[in-house]
Amino acid sequence: MTVLTRFAPSPTGRLHVGNIRTALHNWLWAQKRGGRFLLRIDDTDKERSEEHYVELIRADLAWLGLVPDGEERQSARFALYEARFTALRDAGHVYPAYETAQELDLKRKIAAGRGLPPVYDRAALALSDDQRAALEAEGVAPHWRFRLDHGAAIEWDDLIRGHQRFDPATMSDPVIRRADGSWLYMLPSAIDDAEMGVTHVVRGEDHVSNTALQLQMFAALGSPPPAFAHEALLVGSEGKLSKRLGSVGVDQFREAGIEPEAVRALLARIGTSDPVEPLVDTARLIDTFDFGRFGRAPARFDEAELSAVNTRIVHQLDFDSVAARLPEGMGRVEWDAVRPNLTIVAEAADWWRVIEGPVESATDPADADFLAEAARVAGTIDWSADPWHALTTALKASSGRGGKALFLPLRRALTGLDHGPDMKALLPLIGRERALARLTA
Ligand code: GLU
Repeated sequence: MTVLTRFAPSPTGRLHVGNIRTALHNWLWAQKRGGRFLLRIDDTDKERSEEHYVELIRADLAWLGLVPDGEERQSARFALYEARFTALRDAGHVYPAYETAQELDLKRKIAAGRGLPPVYDRAALALSDDQRAALEAEGVAPHWRFRLDHGAAIEWDDLIRGHQRFDPATMSDPVIRRADGSWLYMLPSAIDDAEMGVTHVVRGEDHVSNTALQLQMFAALGSPPPAFAHEALLVGSEGKLSKRLGSVGVDQFREAGIEPEAVRALLARIGTSDPVEPLVDTARLIDTFDFGRFGRAPARFDEAELSAVNTRIVHQLDFDSVAARLPEGMGRVEWDAVRPNLTIVAEAADWWRVIEGPVESATDPADADFLAEAARVAGTIDWSADPWHALTTALKASSGRGGKALFLPLRRALTGLDHGPDMKALLPLIGRERALARLTA
């Protein structure tokens, strides 16, 4: 069996961290099983779908490195849905219903008043041919419901949640098509999963009861169902489903200097029993990915944790992968020298300015003699080997200083700062000329 997963966003907005996580898990599973990962644009809702979002979804996935092996769009498949719908209707699996939204609402209220669950009473199924004809003659267009088979419990073994069981008699026959002919999510999705040969549906646990309904749709369509993995939802670090999380996405990540590798490393592991590790190498994430490692508790997304992972990712990025984002002129040696001091790649520019100058040296007047001596020594040492070692060894001997008293005034004069990359790596980049000028300033 060749694994086929799909990520099925509706193009009604930008991807957010929750659906990015779902996309990642679908991608990881396909990679792990040597399968394929599809992007399916769920754009049956013409009013709310926008082409501009389709483009942004593709771009966001590309930035994240989750490149689909194929793309499908529901809006190109209406003829197929129509054909399957007709067959289901002819076989009695779907039926027309004529209640207005207000009537349905009233029915729900009456049920609630009697302490009953808000399950649709199937009144439309009891209509005679004449009654239906009369309603249609009055101009009432029907919407369509899928008729659940109450014969047996709906059961499946969820890859994350374990055994699941639903009693169809406690569920309403789902509306699958509106009176204007437009489709609700449920049936087209099941038709597509069946026709495309999707083997694993990986999605949020908010879809669990939909799965129960869709399993009956697969049966009615005569298709074996895919396997299902419903993941616990993502919550903010404060433990709530914050509104804000719904707007955190690739744009915010980029703005904050977060690398796609960091997003992948974090989102692959939160909510699982595996620790979050700053893995740049996706092969390791793929190897360790397994639905059996997922817990039932909500996964916590913490921006501070993402930043921390990002920092550790940045420290591993090699020059070639960041070169295009570095300041003009900054090379491999400079990158390697400053990389351990970065939290985000963009900070490399700050250190590039320190190398290139001018820097505002922040020296203590009490160090004036010492720095004058340092300038003299800097003029005599061999700059081609390890000038920092040569400079500090000579100054240690001549001034008697050691430790902080030796290093800090030099660092301040040479970089204008109290902290920063290892001077051993930095000084050769600052070079003789600029160093002498800074020490004499
Ligand atoms: N378009 C649906 C959604 O975004 C897809 C759900 C699914 O994965 O089946 O909720």
